[in-house]
Amino acid sequence: MKEKSVLIQDQEFISNALKLRFHPITVTEGKGCYLFDENGRSFLDLTAGWAVANIGYGQESVAEKLKEQYIKLSFTTQLSAPSQTMTELAEKLIEMTPGDFSKKVWFGHSGSDANDLISKLVPAASGRPKMIAFMGAYHGQTMGALSLSGHSAQAKFEGKGNVIKLPYPNPYRPFSGISEHLTEQTIHFMNEVFSTICPPEETAGIIVEAIQSDGGVILPPDDFLAALRQICDQHGIYLIVDEVKVGMGRTGKWFSFEHSPIIPDAVVLGKSLGGGLPISAVIGRQEILDSVTAGHMFTASGNPLCTAAAIETIRIIEEKDLISQAEKNGQYFLEGLRSLQKKYPFIGEVRGKGLVLGVEIVTDRLEKKPDPVKTSAICYRAYELGLLIYYVGIHGNVLEITPPLTISREEITEALHLLDQTLQDVAAGHVDWEQVKQFSGWA
Ligand code: PMP
Repeated sequence: MKEKSVLIQDQEFISNALKLRFHPITVTEGKGCYLFDENGRSFLDLTAGWAVANIGYGQESVAEKLKEQYIKLSFTTQLSAPSQTMTELAEKLIEMTPGDFSKKVWFGHSGSDANDLISKLVPAASGRPKMIAFMGAYHGQTMGALSLSGHSAQAKFEGKGNVIKLPYPNPYRPFSGISEHLTEQTIHFMNEVFSTICPPEETAGIIVEAIQSDGGVILPPDDFLAALRQICDQHGIYLIVDEVKVGMGRTGKWFSFEHSPIIPDAVVLGKSLGGGLPISAVIGRQEILDSVTAGHMFTASGNPLCTAAAIETIRIIEEKDLISQAEKNGQYFLEGLRSLQKKYPFIGEVRGKGLVLGVEIVTDRLEKKPDPVKTSAICYRAYELGLLIYYVGIHGNVLEITPPLTISREEITEALHLLDQTLQDVAAGHVDWEQVKQFSGWA
């Protein structure tokens, strides 16, 4: 009963602007990869709270560090007094990101405010007005960030008019219908754009996700980022990589762009950086980060608590070797999902890198027609069976799997078992359509 009342309060008191509900769940506890509701029911969380809880829920050493820090110094505003934890974290992040050039770091609270910085400071640093971004990209919901995004979640708003969106190379759904030489096709398209509406001498930067996650867990061809880097170098354009969702070890490297031989001019971090506390960061060339004094500052940016949590989160990832675990366990998970694909013809494709995995749901494999209705039914049925999973993608038909990096082989086996049961039930029509309609996420 109590659980229901929270859901009713949620309906009554919480702004719709904040809502994207996939399940009628309220959560009171989290430990490791599991969440618990008020009745003590457990849910195996394949979302990590939208790729935030990379270190799992309830890491005690983070709690200890937070308590210690709160007692020592609970707050200091960066408007006047930098804290030791902020500068320590900045130094660590500079050390972690590649690039033999002078770098600086900015701190905020969300992926959105960090990408907003990009939308302001990259044009300011280069003296050029325009930006290039990609269709399907999700960079956030504040004005600058939504302007860079090409995701349907932002379609309700008109962004700043200085961003040109190009198709993202999707090997499963190539924009020209031809999947060969996808990178070349994209670069050709970019050159067309350069010779018409967006000349390179007016282009400040290109922002890209190395794996487009909210866009549908799309892994571009291996040579894509290197080709972007080359074109940026040719024209003096900055290359910015948004690692908010898939960074911090999730793909089997600290940053997902490290699977390619490139060095970005700026890297955007958020979500998992604080192990659950709200913190984002941009690490990049000094000339970008210093281009506007007092140009993107918030009272609580770089506060001692969130920065202390981030320092401890990084320490845990290193100590527990979560990056190589993500790689190995991701491979195991991927193989399990591929076995399920053999069983269920409505799984069009399974793909992923490390612990970023996508399962594309289609009406049939040959036609590849997206099946968003079945996808939301799967999410809902999985929830009923005790498994939390969201879906993403511009067609709303890709199950996205981003569990805590601490997930064990046993937990993956359990997840695959529950997913198998879910798919079997949905295929057999065991679906509560009224509920599915009510909790249909992006739809
Ligand atoms: N960038 C990427 C790649 C994201 O996936 C998201 C959120 N899904 C954001 C930015 C925005 O982050 P936030 O919700 O913290 O503003």
